[in-house]
Amino acid sequence: MLRARLLDRQAQRESAARTYARSLPVAPVSAAGARVTGADGRAYLDCLSGAGTLALGHNHPDVVAALQEALGSGAPLHALDMITPQKDAFSGELLRRLPGTLRDNAKLHFCSPAGTDAVEAALKLARNATGRQGVFAFTGAYHGMTLGASSVSGPGRMRRGSAAFGPAEAQPVTRLPYPYGYRCPFGVGADRAGELSAHLMESYVTDPSSGVGTPAAVILEVVQGEGGVVPGPDAWLREVRRITAEHGILLIVDEVQTGIGRTGDFWACERAGITPDILVTSKAVGGGLPLALIAYRPDLDTWQPGDHTGTFRGNTLAMVAGEVTLRTVAEQQLAERAAKLGERLRAGLRELATEHPQIAEVRGRGLMIGAELVDPAAEPDARGSLPGDPAFARALQAACLEHGLILELGGRGDSVLRLLPPLVLTDEEADSVLHRIADALA
Ligand code: PLP
Repeated sequence: MLRARLLDRQAQRESAARTYARSLPVAPVSAAGARVTGADGRAYLDCLSGAGTLALGHNHPDVVAALQEALGSGAPLHALDMITPQKDAFSGELLRRLPGTLRDNAKLHFCSPAGTDAVEAALKLARNATGRQGVFAFTGAYHGMTLGASSVSGPGRMRRGSAAFGPAEAQPVTRLPYPYGYRCPFGVGADRAGELSAHLMESYVTDPSSGVGTPAAVILEVVQGEGGVVPGPDAWLREVRRITAEHGILLIVDEVQTGIGRTGDFWACERAGITPDILVTSKAVGGGLPLALIAYRPDLDTWQPGDHTGTFRGNTLAMVAGEVTLRTVAEQQLAERAAKLGERLRAGLRELATEHPQIAEVRGRGLMIGAELVDPAAEPDARGSLPGDPAFARALQAACLEHGLILELGGRGDSVLRLLPPLVLTDEEADSVLHRIADALA
């Protein structure tokens, strides 16, 4: 009944606006914190926050003030490859927050301002530094849409755009199973799946008859975001770190979505106590302005001039917004806040799941939250998991929007409801998020 009603409403809405290939039917004209006001005067709570770019929410007064000051100061808006005071301030702030042995020690390389380009840079650097080509990547991963980045992304549909023009792989990629409890490919829990995944990785490297050989790098997300908010078990992450270190394989950790406090730690990899050789960051690191970079072990610095450049790398205003964001997240302990608020939201969603069997699993870390949506009337698969229900997920997303809540879908088949609210979401707003989802389900 609920499913039929929501799908019917969805069909009515879909015939309404078809101008943009991909857009939410919200026309925001003003925004502050987690709140957005549409052109029609409607108020929304924003649990998408620019796909996680706005750690401090919309128009944080300190970010706005710093940008206004920079704009009036006569500083060059862009000074490619030059060292400006803004770049210095940002880099100092970032370096002192990096994880483990990268702290105060890493080299930074600014990229064209999108996560996907920073992933490209990481892959190139790994190949340059090791003289090897191959990469181990994981099922369900998302690393971006350029050729190199999409070739290490998991789902085939993410490589479709490049496949149309020829081979969809920029380098030899061996895909390993990411430990995913709900739809675990081995029919066992996430921890055991992690063990098997690590074992497979090690056996490829140590057994010459596997034909795979030692790759240049392993690339992973500590919590898969677009893949449906799937946290990698700590023990698995430590095992991957052990194996890569032992065999001279570089570990690239993509913190484009997880970084800057979102998962309850400043960097998601810190929870498992692992330090990557190359860390990729974008989204929130620019405080809402376009910025992307890699931070890496200094001994890997094999770049020649021109190996990886791009006109807009290291833009001044992004440095300014990024520096304020890094400092504020650290000083106001917003990672700790994200951890607490995430628990509160997940507990609320689990309570809703007791009344609504469409919510099969609630998971995540900090304010990176996913709810797996299924069709309870469908046949479970051989492993006992119910199939995802993307149509229901789309309809629920639209119903949430009608109740003034902006959120995102993701996961295999887009059947996971995803919440990425700003870290400054208040307790009251968190409760209101839960009420709105409950209303949308009702
Ligand atoms: N890596 C991860 C983990 C991401 O979540 C994304 C985007 O969602 C990217 C890379 C690509 O970033 P961008 O969209 O800025 O190119």
